[in-house]
Amino acid sequence: MIITDRFNQTAKIEIPTGVKKIGVSMSGGADSSMLCYLLAKEIKENDLNIIIHPISARFAVRPWSYMRAKRVVKFIKNDLECPEIFGQHYYFSVPEDECKIDQAKEKHFGHVMSFLFVNNIIDHLFSGKTKNPSKQVMNTFFDKNPQTDRNNPTEKDIYKASVETVPWAMVDNRLIIDLYKKYGLMHTLLPITRSCEGSETATSNFTKECGKCWWCEERKWALEQVNG
Ligand SMILES: [Zn+2]
Repeated sequence: MIITDRFNQTAKIEIPTGVKKIGVSMSGGADSSMLCYLLAKEIKENDLNIIIHPISARFAVRPWSYMRAKRVVKFIKNDLECPEIFGQHYYFSVPEDECKIDQAKEKHFGHVMSFLFVNNIIDHLFSGKTKNPSKQVMNTFFDKNPQTDRNNPTEKDIYKASVETVPWAMVDNRLIIDLYKKYGLMHTLLPITRSCEGSETATSNFTKECGKCWWCEERKWALEQVNG
């Protein structure tokens, strides 16, 4: 499946031959939720004999993440009428001291993935990471704290390993929001997803969006661009 948006961005979702058990890393955010939606759609429409295992981290600093991911999966199962495509949703907890440094988080994630691969629970991993908006755009953000690993991606970031694909690595959030619009999911699936990383106090115990963090800014910008 080749996807293009009106901002000249292109991404490709392709399930490698022979793959039967896909792990999808799901944060409850818009990017990974759309990736899971499209994979399920592809499997359903082509009647492929493939199972999706959502995988979510329960970061101590983002306690809402797993619950959001769960609600997203439930929505996709109902919307595409495909409960049979989904296998078990795997989750693992990451304690607070391991959330402070990105490398520590990644290391933890890496261990869990190795376990899933070695035990043949999954045979391919899809991750929904997008690239940062341009520097000019980010300069207008209130919070100037982007994820540096999302700068200047290349093809290598899409095909990270023979067993891992990151289809959105070279496109920014506009393509994702454009897909929500294209599939009529702006008022159904999109509001279930959450990107905000504002603190507990800034978000009334994670019930609202803070409107100020980097992730809120990114979503606001993409929405304006797609609706503009
Ligand atoms: Zn926020």
